[in-house]
Amino acid sequence: MSEGRSLRYLSTIGVDQLNGASARKVAAMESAGIESVLDLLWRYPRRYIDRSRQADVAELGVGDEAVVLATVRQVSARRTRQGRALVEVDVADGTGSLRVVFFNQAWRAKQLGTGTEALFFGKIDDYRGARQMTNPVVDVLVGAEGRRSGRQQTGRIIPIYPQSSKVGLTSWDYAGLIEESLRRTVAFADPLTEQELDQLDLLDRSSAMRAIHEPEVMEEVEPARRRLAFDELLRLQLALHLRRAQLERDARGIEHATDPQEASETTSSNSFVATFLAGLGFRPTSAQRRVVAEILTDMHSGLPMNRLLQGDVGSGKTVVAVAAMLAAVQGGYQAALMAPTEVLAEQHYLGISALLQNFEVEDEARLGGRRALEVRLLTGSASAAQRRAISEGIANGSIDIVIGTQALLSADVTFARLGLGVVDEQHRFGVEQRAALRESGRRSQAGADPDLLVMTATPIPRTAAMVVFGDLEMSILDEMPEGRTPILTHWARSELEEHQAWGRVREEIQSGRQAYVVCPLVDGSDRMVAKSATEEFERLGRESLEGLRLGLMHGQMKPVEKEAVMASFRSGELDVLVATTVIEVGVDVPNATVMVIEDAGRFGIAQLHQLRGRVGRGANQSYCYLLSGNTPSSDAEVRLGALENSTDGFYLAEIDLELRGEGTILGSRQQGRSDLNLASLARDRDLMGLARDLASTLVSSDGSLASRPDLADELALTLDPEDAAFLFKS
Ligand code: ADP
Ligand code: MG
Repeated sequence: MSEGRSLRYLSTIGVDQLNGASARKVAAMESAGIESVLDLLWRYPRRYIDRSRQADVAELGVGDEAVVLATVRQVSARRTRQGRALVEVDVADGTGSLRVVFFNQAWRAKQLGTGTEALFFGKIDDYRGARQMTNPVVDVLVGAEGRRSGRQQTGRIIPIYPQSSKVGLTSWDYAGLIEESLRRTVAFADPLTEQELDQLDLLDRSSAMRAIHEPEVMEEVEPARRRLAFDELLRLQLALHLRRAQLERDARGIEHATDPQEASETTSSNSFVATFLAGLGFRPTSAQRRVVAEILTDMHSGLPMNRLLQGDVGSGKTVVAVAAMLAAVQGGYQAALMAPTEVLAEQHYLGISALLQNFEVEDEARLGGRRALEVRLLTGSASAAQRRAISEGIANGSIDIVIGTQALLSADVTFARLGLGVVDEQHRFGVEQRAALRESGRRSQAGADPDLLVMTATPIPRTAAMVVFGDLEMSILDEMPEGRTPILTHWARSELEEHQAWGRVREEIQSGRQAYVVCPLVDGSDRMVAKSATEEFERLGRESLEGLRLGLMHGQMKPVEKEAVMASFRSGELDVLVATTVIEVGVDVPNATVMVIEDAGRFGIAQLHQLRGRVGRGANQSYCYLLSGNTPSSDAEVRLGALENSTDGFYLAEIDLELRGEGTILGSRQQGRSDLNLASLARDRDLMGLARDLASTLVSSDGSLASRPDLADELALTLDPEDAAFLFKS
C-alpha cells in the first residue's frame, strides 16, 4: 500500500473539522448525508464548466450559457416596485455590450464600479428585446481602482456539484470544502499496486481524486473517472466473489452421475436426457444442447450448481429445465420446478407431464422393479387432502418431479432427496427464494445442497447481469428454434391504424386463430385495475370485437377462475383473451397469433417484449399491435419504435438500460455506501470485465482477501453492515 490516507481514516474525520465548515454548513451537510471527509470527497462533480472558453459579447444569443470578460461602463442601483434591490450594470468587451442585472445583491453596485474588469458567467435571456444576463457568477479581475483582486478563478475549469438547495449548500460551498479536504489529505493510500495500475492502465488514486475535483483541463476528467469507477466496480466484484467463495466453502453439493456427452446430438447414451432430447418431436437447437451440457457438467461437480439461464421468450427454456430434472431423477434424486404464478405452474405441469409420459424409474418396491416417473403439481389452491397426499409423496420419494408455486417452499414440504431446484422467471423471485430452495434441500433426508437452475426471459445486458445475478454462473440460449416466423410488430399511430389492428384480429379469428388484448395500464389498487379491465372487456365486446367470444382475466380473480379462463382459451372455446399484465409471463397457447397492447406507451420495453412473446409460438405468422392512444412521450416513442424494429430481447435490453439508466435495473441491490456512483454499466463494460478478472485472481487463491488487508478494509467500510458481516465472518 502506498503512503497516504486510507478511506477508513478519511471516514473517521468529521466535516466539522474543516476550517471552511461553519456550524450551518455542517448541519446542512449532515442532512444531505455527508458526515465525514470521505462522504464529502465522494460527492463528485455532476459536470464542469470550462471558463477558459470565453465568448465575445457580440456573438451571444438568447439561451447561451457563456463566460464573458468585459468592462463595466455604467452601474446603477434602485429598488423594484416589490422592494427588491436591483443593480443594473452595462458591460462591454469591444465587440458589443450587454446588460447585467442583479436582484437582492445591493453590494454589487460597490463591487462593480465603472471601469471594473470582470468575468461574468451566466445564461443570456431576453429582456424587452435586449440581451441580458441575470444574477451571473462574477469574478473580478481588475477592480475599479485598478488593483488586482485577490481571488482569481480565471481560465479554470469549474466543477459543478450536485447542489442541495433545500439544505442551502451551493456548488461553491462544496467546491471550497472539497478543496480544503484535498489539500489537507495531501495523498491517498492506493490499495492497488503500481504494477496493477500499470497493467490496467489506470491513474493512481491521489491523481484521480485531484483530477476529478479540480481538473486543469477537461482531458483530465475521464481518466480520473475511470480510475474511481474501477474502484467501485472492483469493490462490487470482490463482494460477489467473496460471497461465492463463502457459499462454496459451506457447500455440501451432490455429485450427480451426469455426463455432458448425453446432450450431444451424436451420443450413443440411452440416458434419460439423451432419450428425452431425441424424442421431442423437434430438433433441439444447438444452443439448447450446449446449455444442457453446461448444466450436466455443473451437476456432476461436487459444488452445488448456481446457474442462471437467460433465454428470450420462446427460446425453449422448458426443454432445458426438463432435461436437467431428468438427469437428477435418473440418479435417484427428486427435482422441483417453481413458477411465479399458479397459471404458469399449472401450464408447466400439463406440458411437462405430457413430455414425460413414457419415462419409467427404478423402484425396488414394485413388481418388475420399475414404475412410471411421477410428476405432480402443488400450488396454494390445492385442497388440504390433496396437499397432504402430495407432501407425503414428496417425503417418501414416490414423487419424482414436483411443479408448483411458492407453496413448494412451505415448511410442511420435506423432500426425500431433493437434487435439483429450478426457478422459472427469476425476475419475480429474489435471492431469498433461492436460499429457501437450497434450505429445503438441506432439510431433505439427503441433507445436501441441491443444484439450482434459475431461468429468466427478461434478458438483461451482461454487465448488469453480473451485478444483479453476480453470484450465478450464466448460460444463454441465443438461438431460436427453427421454423419460427418472426412476429410482425406494428405501432398503430392513428385511429385508422387502430381500426386496422382490430380488423386483423377479426381476420385471424376467422381463419381459426386466437388473440390477446392487453388492457390499458391504470394506476391504483388491484381492485381499480380489475374494474378498468372489466370495463374494457365490456367495451370491446360492444364495439371493436363485437360478436367474438371474449374471456377476461385479471389479478383479482381467484386462481381457479383464472385457470378456468385459461383452459377455455387453450381449448379454443374463446377467441380472444382480454387481460391485464397477468398474462405477461410464460402463457403458452401456440394457436394465438395476434396480440393487441392498448396504451402501449405506458409499458416498459421489457414488459412489452414479454407481452409480445405470448404470440409467435406456433408455425403461423403472428402479429403484435401497439396502440399508443394520445401522443406518447418522447421516451415512449423510442420504446415503441424499438419494439417495432426488433424482436431481439438482448438488443432491447440494451436500449432499456440506456433509456432508464442502471438504477432501475439494479433496484434494491443498490444499497451500499458507495455502490455505483461514477461507474455506468452501459458505458463501463470493459472496466467491469477488468474488475471481475482482478477480483477473481485476488479472491481465488484462498477464498478470502487475507492477502490484501487494505482492499478488504475498504470493502468492509463500504458494504452495508449485513453483507459485511456475512462476507467477513471468520
Ligand atoms: P420459453 O423459453 O419462453 O420458456 P418454452 O420453453 O415455453 O419457451 O418453449 C416455447 C415453445 O417452443 C414450446 O411450445 C416448445 O415446445 C417449443 N420448442 C422448444 N424448443 C424447440 C425446438 N428446438 N424446436 C421447436 N420448438 C421448440
Ligand atoms: Mg418459459
